[in-house]
Amino acid sequence: MNAPTSSAVLAPTVKLLIGGQFIESKTTEWRDVVNPATQEVLARVPFATAEEIDAAVASAKEAFKTWKKTPIGTRARVFLKYQQLIRENMAELAAILTAEQGKTLPDAEGDVFRGLEVVEHAASIGNLQLGELANNVAGGVDTYTLMQPLGVCAGITPFNFPAMIPLWMFPMAIATGNTFVLKPSEQDPMVTMRLVELALEAGIPPGVLNVIHGGEMAVNAICDHKDIKAVSFVGSTKVGTHLYNRATLAGKRAQCMMGAKNHAIILPDANKEQSLNAIAGAAFGAAGQRCMALPVVVLVGEAQQWIPDLVAKAKTLKINGGTEKGTDVGPVVSCAALARVEGLIERGIADGATLELDGRKPVVPGYEKGNFVGPTIFSNVKPGMAIYDQEIFGPVLALVAAADIDEAIAFINDNPNGNGTAIFTQSGAAARKFQEEIDVGQVGINVPIPVPVPLFSFSGSRASKLGDLGPYGKQVIMFYTQTKTVTARWFDDSTTSHGVNTTISLK
Ligand code: NAD
Repeated sequence: MNAPTSSAVLAPTVKLLIGGQFIESKTTEWRDVVNPATQEVLARVPFATAEEIDAAVASAKEAFKTWKKTPIGTRARVFLKYQQLIRENMAELAAILTAEQGKTLPDAEGDVFRGLEVVEHAASIGNLQLGELANNVAGGVDTYTLMQPLGVCAGITPFNFPAMIPLWMFPMAIATGNTFVLKPSEQDPMVTMRLVELALEAGIPPGVLNVIHGGEMAVNAICDHKDIKAVSFVGSTKVGTHLYNRATLAGKRAQCMMGAKNHAIILPDANKEQSLNAIAGAAFGAAGQRCMALPVVVLVGEAQQWIPDLVAKAKTLKINGGTEKGTDVGPVVSCAALARVEGLIERGIADGATLELDGRKPVVPGYEKGNFVGPTIFSNVKPGMAIYDQEIFGPVLALVAAADIDEAIAFINDNPNGNGTAIFTQSGAAARKFQEEIDVGQVGINVPIPVPVPLFSFSGSRASKLGDLGPYGKQVIMFYTQTKTVTARWFDDSTTSHGVNTTISLK
């Protein structure tokens, strides 16, 4: 995380949302929100004070008293309205996102759209939050479950999906009857705030959704706060591990979706053109800043001959500002991120990997100050090299060779991360073997970025995740609710008394 800075030229300020009011923070610590293609300062974001964080939690706690009793149909209708408002404002949302984050406009729309799908899912809360009932578990006795909201929940989000990931969190938490405190990424909070404005317009009552801004102090305050019951986090493994330990020690539920190093396998029987297109899109799209990007490809047998074709394809990708038509690769999010990616490319060369394509310092007319690095490809990459061991989070692809599918699967399973993986093949038997034996939570078969739609849950595994339950889908209903089991018997005047029962059995 970068330290707070203060812009000399005063740009507009990003507001806090507390008790239904957008308010100016009283903090003295501010950080600039910067357009990564131009370095223009778009806004200043406050690092909220401890008192402001307390006020946001207190407002959510107060609002919970009534929101938890709000009929399920009323809650569902808020999200029906919300999805409509997001659709109507899609172009504006994408433009804000591109300006502060750098991804291309079509990809920014995709970011909003994948969040919109979760909002649509939240609108069907009536079906999702149904309990179970067993009739006559003993004579005249029924057992049923209630899925009750927890109280105040919190979410902490990363820079790379500033629309989708906040929308993974607060719609499902609020639809299940909780109230929420959101802490967006301090690097690109503006599209998140526009989405929050639309959420209020859709009918989320004052105090049900609150927003604070900040960094380490704000996150630690959320972990420690006695009135917060559950925390959702998406971000780096380092921060997520710290947060998980701190929040669970303080007695909260926590779910942390963290860093990744996703591998794909290309078997020699794969459709060459389709597979290489998919790899280039997944490795270099969004400038490699997706947690489900494909930064490692294992080429099996004769597929190793395809490296020149992959390099040729990567060279055709257009590097430019995200608002320019036809752009494939925009800038990375910050100057610090650019320096880190360039430093890792240097280490790759020093460690002995073969640089097949060098994307450093591309010339981008009109965007000379932008944080650009073009598609970069290394072959002969091995574990122990920094470019393999670290999550680069830039458009850098590592190629690895394997003799057969068994060797390729074993190689992937040896990597500690488990966010996503993919296989490219025409063989059903090979695909099925991969699906069965690979130890990664999200698997693509000729699909490079297998992020599940919200009918399912996001299910990264191993070092990419802490906590049993993932975002959205059925799992998140469990995460945001407490199951209460009720066992009930009703007597009427004609019920025969069985006398005193001193056993554990229900009679
Ligand atoms: P980050 O960990 O730097 O920041 C995430 C959040 O944590 C931000 O809100 C930030 O303010 C806060 N934070 C930063 N430093 C902190 C500290 N020292 N203490 C407490 N809080 C701190 O992550 P990022 O750079 O914004 O996002 C990129 C990372 O997120 C990558 O590792 C990527 O793989 C991961 N990610 C994972 C998923 C997933 O679903 N697994 C999805 C998106 C991103």
